Amino acid sequence: MPVKEEAAIRPGRQVTPGRCRKIPEVWYGSGEVRWVLWPQESLFLDAEWDLSAFNNLAALEEKVRTCARCGLRAGCRGVVFGEGNPQAKVVLCGEGPGADEDRLGRPFVGRAGQLLDKILEACGFGRFEHVYILNAVKCRPPGNRIPTEEERAACRANLEAQLRIIRPRIMVLLGATALQAVLDPRGRITRDRGRWVEKNGLWIMPTYHPAALLRNPHLKRDTWEDFKQVVAKYRELVDPQHYSPHC
Ligand code: URA
Repeated sequence: MPVKEEAAIRPGRQVTPGRCRKIPEVWYGSGEVRWVLWPQESLFLDAEWDLSAFNNLAALEEKVRTCARCGLRAGCRGVVFGEGNPQAKVVLCGEGPGADEDRLGRPFVGRAGQLLDKILEACGFGRFEHVYILNAVKCRPPGNRIPTEEERAACRANLEAQLRIIRPRIMVLLGATALQAVLDPRGRITRDRGRWVEKNGLWIMPTYHPAALLRNPHLKRDTWEDFKQVVAKYRELVDPQHYSPHC
């Protein structure tokens, strides 16, 4: 039984930054997994944008491609929904598409994406085999600025629906925006990275964004420690025989 939010967001209603409502849990339909995320504003019961009937990723993608719930859609080429194996047990969540992603309609295909591919390779993960890659917001913010709280809140239903359908066991949050959008609006990546948070069977690992590693290579060591933990968790939860060339 879905838990009803008292106030669904009406079209045109403003979400006030800083007024983060922590609801204890959100129960999605099928009843096996309780996704306890802490929405700044949960939109999933918005009658205008109810995604609860979507049970496969292709149909959801078609719907989300029509999304114009925040101002970002007007300023970008298109929605970057995500890509990977829809049955993946590992989801990686970034901040939002950049210029290359907007142009190609695919997540993490620029320089940061190439670095992410190398990290995944070192873990023995293939982009289209072991993982699904998505973003907290699906449309490119102008000039690659950080998406606002309103924009993240407007896109949250899309992200939640993706997670409900994919049902990953492990989620890697790449950078502060993903950490704050998914786990804790007050999260700090330097403090929270490298520590598992478990929410009803979903194991969540915040780590640095690959773009931060390009700016500051000293962060690579800690990031690799975090990904080694991800591989260990994957062996524990998903495939004890998982092969990785480096750990
Ligand atoms: N940075 C992100 O956060 N996401 C992308 O898809 C690309 C760069």
